[in-house]
Amino acid sequence: MSFTLYNDLTRSKERFVPIREGHVSFYSCGPTVYDYFHVGNARPFIVFDVLRRYLEHIGYEVTFVQNFTDIDDKMINRANDEGITVGELSERFIAEYYRDADALGIRRPTVAPKATDHMAEIIDIVSKIMEKGHAYEVETAGGGKDVYFDVRSYAPYGRLSKQSLDELEAGARVEVEEAKRNPLDFALWKAGKPGEPSWESPWGKGRPGWHIECSAMASKYLGDTIDIHSGGVDLTFPHHENEVAQSEAAAGKPFVNFWLHNGFLLIDKEKMSKSLGNFMTARAAREAYPPLAIRLFMLSAHYRTQINFAPDGLEQAAGGVTRLRNCWADLMYAKETTCAGDAGISPFLKELDALDKRFYEAMDDDFNTAAAVGVLFELVKLVNTWLKDSRDGKITLPASFFDAAEKELRKLDDILGVIGIEDSTDEDVGEIDRMIEERNVARKAKNFSRSDEIRDLLLARGIVLEDTPQGTKWKRKIY
Ligand code: AMP
Ligand code: ZN
Repeated sequence: MSFTLYNDLTRSKERFVPIREGHVSFYSCGPTVYDYFHVGNARPFIVFDVLRRYLEHIGYEVTFVQNFTDIDDKMINRANDEGITVGELSERFIAEYYRDADALGIRRPTVAPKATDHMAEIIDIVSKIMEKGHAYEVETAGGGKDVYFDVRSYAPYGRLSKQSLDELEAGARVEVEEAKRNPLDFALWKAGKPGEPSWESPWGKGRPGWHIECSAMASKYLGDTIDIHSGGVDLTFPHHENEVAQSEAAAGKPFVNFWLHNGFLLIDKEKMSKSLGNFMTARAAREAYPPLAIRLFMLSAHYRTQINFAPDGLEQAAGGVTRLRNCWADLMYAKETTCAGDAGISPFLKELDALDKRFYEAMDDDFNTAAAVGVLFELVKLVNTWLKDSRDGKITLPASFFDAAEKELRKLDDILGVIGIEDSTDEDVGEIDRMIEERNVARKAKNFSRSDEIRDLLLARGIVLEDTPQGTKWKRKIY
């Protein structure tokens, strides 16, 4: 089966073919950095991180661009409330974004551009849209000029969200800004107001509207037509509809080949959002649950469905992570302590192969992580069964068993990132083994203060010890 993605533009699953062979240009809308992001926001960051990892896994070079919106009303208001500059506010919350995103295993984008670093590109694209007759200027009371996109001048408007202009107009809120020709027209550039950051432009001092930054930065880093553009389903209209109109009006070329939108993360059956006040920050969530459990929770559902954020779901995911990590720790322990045996493992390899095939089938089908996670748990069950037979003395496992199981678990973890396998260096492992050995000696000598001290020293390094009849095992703590 070839790799398919559900394209919101055509409302169907399509075989994914990139514009340039071997390369994927991928733009994902990022956070507005006025506060910590919440677990609803974490959903697109996590699911599209997995899509990116999978594309890389199947051999593409991926240029993944995710922007930071660092200038808008929310930024200005929050900075004023705190008595700091908008720049200071964004610097702080970009750093906080990375603290949470890194902890959630979200790989850093290839490029993470900020709107305020791209004023020249933004002004350039607004000028192009003006030149092509798709935008108009409006004088403001303060003397500066606003620039609006003229939606009536762009016939395909509404194509992405599947609404006609007439339907959209009927539903549009009439705002106080009478200066607009049409209630659907949206600001590309806003005249500066006193006390707000502003930049020089052909329309006087001002700042960009929200939508234009994504059009400007996508074309700068990825070109006029890009392979994949993603975001939450709430961005379909108006943000993404407006991005299409701006980019296509400016470049005269199709903007995006594949539009992908994740479903909402709900809380008590309502969309989690800052404005409703029903949110939990990713920071608070990862204090309450292991970060890997948050990731597993998100990936246990298909990205287009809605999911409900509730303690039982998270606790179940935490139990799942423990199962995954125990399997890995048991495998590593058995690998270290088992003398190479001669058990016939062809039934194991056959089942492993079948699971591997099913994993790819799931991921090739619109990156169905729910099914892929199911396969991972079947793999763990399979590995556990063989490890148990070995522990029970029924068989002695050969090195090829450990190689195959380790390779498969590492591969799946590299894509899903839910086991948290770390590449600990040999030195690291050697040091841990030495400390365990010293602790064993202390215990034999009934020097319990020393043995407890060693246990605590290891715990401080995130290593948990477990004394079993087969000896002392160690695992990395997950939170
Ligand atoms: P924002 O900072 O509000 O622009 O949101 C950043 C990303 O999170 C966007 O892709 C939004 O569509 C997405 N998002 C916001 N709320 C939710 C939610 N409750 N569930 C899923 N995605 C969301
Ligand atoms: Zn955007």
